[in-house]
Amino acid sequence: ALEFQGLSAIVTGGASGIGLAVAETLAASGAGIAVLDLSPEQAPGHLHAIQADVADTAAVADATAQAVEYLGGLDVLVNNAGIGAQGTVEDNSEEEWHHVLDVNVLGIVRTTRAALPHLRRSAHPAIVNVCSVTATTGLPQRALYSASKGAVLALTLAMAADHLYEGIRVNCVNPGTVDTPWVGRLIAAADDPGAERRALEARQPSGRLVTAQQVASAVAYLAGPSAGATTGTALAVDGGISGL
Ligand code: NAD
Repeated sequence: ALEFQGLSAIVTGGASGIGLAVAETLAASGAGIAVLDLSPEQAPGHLHAIQADVADTAAVADATAQAVEYLGGLDVLVNNAGIGAQGTVEDNSEEEWHHVLDVNVLGIVRTTRAALPHLRRSAHPAIVNVCSVTATTGLPQRALYSASKGAVLALTLAMAADHLYEGIRVNCVNPGTVDTPWVGRLIAAADDPGAERRALEARQPSGRLVTAQQVASAVAYLAGPSAGATTGTALAVDGGISGL
């Protein structure tokens, strides 16, 4: 059976990497999909992709309204758009701190505010936030990124509590290092790309990078009616790092 038949989803950052895998997975399960992305031209032509920067409140409101009109309603919001940052607390400027928190944390606040009135009209409303293993596990050179994802985890739990009695489920996934274009760029920028890839793989207890599809499958589970009894959880998809 197609679990998402008749349901509609917005996936932010759905033109690449994890978000694209989520959009394709939900679509294959019958969902109507609208992608909100800074660079919608990256998305394959069969996905309805709308340009929006999650750091821009007015753009998010406009794009969400357009998406809901296209979809004819909204059941699922996947907050996946996010950006990385490397370094210790000494390395990133205050401007970088503000920007990454603006995109990774306030981005979710903006899309959720725009989506909630529509989700309230759904019989199966759900929000899934794409968080990170860094929300619960200290890794080197990720101070700003970890702080942003720690906030996403806390926000997920708070939103789950706030919307529990109106039936809107809110969960997150915490991926380890996922083989996406972003991680590809990180590897390519290293002095020794081969060594960088091996170091990232070695950090995963499984010895392998997580695939975007593995994260998408976890997101699809949390977003769908079969997870109807699950809210306020973080599902690790990290090859075991957080369990060590
Ligand atoms: P990616 O760079 O491959 O894709 C991110 C997508 O988001 C792109 O299409 C990009 O255009 C879009 N985007 C970026 N900034 C945006 C903005 N301000 N507004 C709208 N769209 C924007 O990255 P990815 O690896 O697929 O990462 C997706 C999410 O997964 C992020 O939240 C990231 O923090 C999280 N994550 C990634 C990894 C990993 O190892 N790749 C691990 C844990 C968590």
